[in-house]
Amino acid sequence: MEEITLLSKVFEILANNNKGSYVFLSDIKTGYSRWSKECVEEFGLPSDRIEDAGLIWAEHVHPSDRARYDQSLEDVFSGRTDSHDLVYRARNKYGEYVAVTCRGKVIRDDDNTPLFFAGTIINHGIASEYDNVTNLYTKEKLIETLADYKEDKQRYNILFIGIYNFIDINNVYGYEFGNKVIKNFAEKLLEYTDDAEVFSAGGTKFAVVSTELKLSQLKEIYEELADYGRYSITVDGTHVAIMLGASCTEVTNFAVDEHTVFSNGLRGLEESMYEKHGEINAFSNSLMDKSHERLVLLNALRNSILEDCDGFSLVFQPVIDAETESLKGAEALVRWKKDPYGNVSPADFIAWLEDDPLFYDLGLWIAENAMRFWKENVLTVRPDLNLSINLSYTQLERSNFRKDFANLIKELDFPADRLKVELTERCTILDKHFLRNEIIFMKSQGIDTIIDDFGTGFSAMELLLVLPVSGIKIDRSFVSGIAEDIRKQAVAEAIITCAQKMGLHITVEGVESGIIRDAVKSFGASSYQGYFYSVPVPIEDFVKLPFM
Ligand code: C2E
Ligand code: CA
Ligand code: CA
Repeated sequence: MEEITLLSKVFEILANNNKGSYVFLSDIKTGYSRWSKECVEEFGLPSDRIEDAGLIWAEHVHPSDRARYDQSLEDVFSGRTDSHDLVYRARNKYGEYVAVTCRGKVIRDDDNTPLFFAGTIINHGIASEYDNVTNLYTKEKLIETLADYKEDKQRYNILFIGIYNFIDINNVYGYEFGNKVIKNFAEKLLEYTDDAEVFSAGGTKFAVVSTELKLSQLKEIYEELADYGRYSITVDGTHVAIMLGASCTEVTNFAVDEHTVFSNGLRGLEESMYEKHGEINAFSNSLMDKSHERLVLLNALRNSILEDCDGFSLVFQPVIDAETESLKGAEALVRWKKDPYGNVSPADFIAWLEDDPLFYDLGLWIAENAMRFWKENVLTVRPDLNLSINLSYTQLERSNFRKDFANLIKELDFPADRLKVELTERCTILDKHFLRNEIIFMKSQGIDTIIDDFGTGFSAMELLLVLPVSGIKIDRSFVSGIAEDIRKQAVAEAIITCAQKMGLHITVEGVESGIIRDAVKSFGASSYQGYFYSVPVPIEDFVKLPFM
């Protein structure tokens, strides 16, 4: 009892009221311990005086951190080291994991027998450093790390790896199983990559960053992982084969922004996954050269956005009513021109930029400028014309999107029923429930949504059953050369007939000639768009078009 009183006295001296910083002190012999009140409160501990605290606290440690935690404590108590200093995740009373830094020291008597274990726990808040599914560091942490390297002028190599058949796994086995597959792969990735840091790069993409490993070593690691993915993953007794793609960048140019390195790496990864079947030639010198050019260009694009979108402009391409062949509206498309790069097509840069946080700002700039011009110069003459703008999935994902978009419409006092949103579905993991809600939100604002590039994405027909869209735009790849290709005619006819039966509005894009128009005419599309009617024109010229 005497010792306990002494312990309590020492504790009172140590305990401080710093928010998020706690103190613990335990008597090793009796197992009796004291904890700051704030800590008891935050973690829902039974009391500020606990017997067997070691066991109780260990229960709060994240399962993935538990082995490290146990090892560190064993090292301290066995006398191998003197102090415990560890960052790990601990579960608070709400069941959320927060990151904590725990520092403790063993106090020994003259015979070296451990008497007390005392220390502090600093609470860093919700453990956003770690990705929920994989337990790897998050994308945000990756960007921070790259920024630090840039600042320190530290050379490094970065390998991006992605799983490209993941949508199939999700479809066949369900999300929960899919998550287990990702977790299994993430653990393997950690095993294979000593001398490197491993991050989640969002969804089914990963990044391996190393200042030690050479590109050739990263390439070998990738090859081994690709084999592992193909042959050796078993989840809940089921063997699944995952297909990987990769890109690799050597970073030695510190003028290049960390976001640029990131976007460039992802772009290279997508090329590997969707155009090269995961081929390792993503690592060839030629790609590295190409990748360097791309880095410079991406950096220039980003700087343009930061300079109030200087260098960006808009064009409108007319949309024609199929029945009357008269003007129905236009689609806004972005352009970028800057010395010494000249005109760069959005077909090239949108996909690179999409994952970049700055893309969101560009998207708002596009929407605002297109809508303002339409309201002030087009609707004043032709109040019946519709404006279509393109939105990417990544734009919708931003938490501010709804607020920003609704504000824009309100500020410009734009008639919502004259606005159409074209949604591109370039990404691999689409959360259908999320998309559905966003489309319902658009509807609540009075805005119709259509699916763009229909037929090129994933399970397009299936999407139509779930998403409350008002129409589809059939990608031009379906109609190019359609007059000579009987199979293309069959596919286009099938899609159009099906969409019609679902009551959807159908736009055919890429109508380059009267021949194409005639080939699709009988199928019953609602609108046409293409060079046959007009190329996209600078917005000021739109109002001068003959059919306006
Ligand atoms: P998209 O939305 O499918 O846009 C149609 C593309 O087809 C445009 O290319 C247009 O210039 C082109 N096009 C129009 N008629 C014809 C034709 O008869 N024949 C051929 N061969 N092409 C035709 P563009 O402007 O280069 O845009 C490429 C893609 O970049 C767009 O494809 C869209 O996915 C993306 N994009 C463009 N502007 C924006 C934007 O403001 N926001 C977003 N998120 N994406 C945009
Ligand atoms: Ca479009
Ligand atoms: Ca298209």
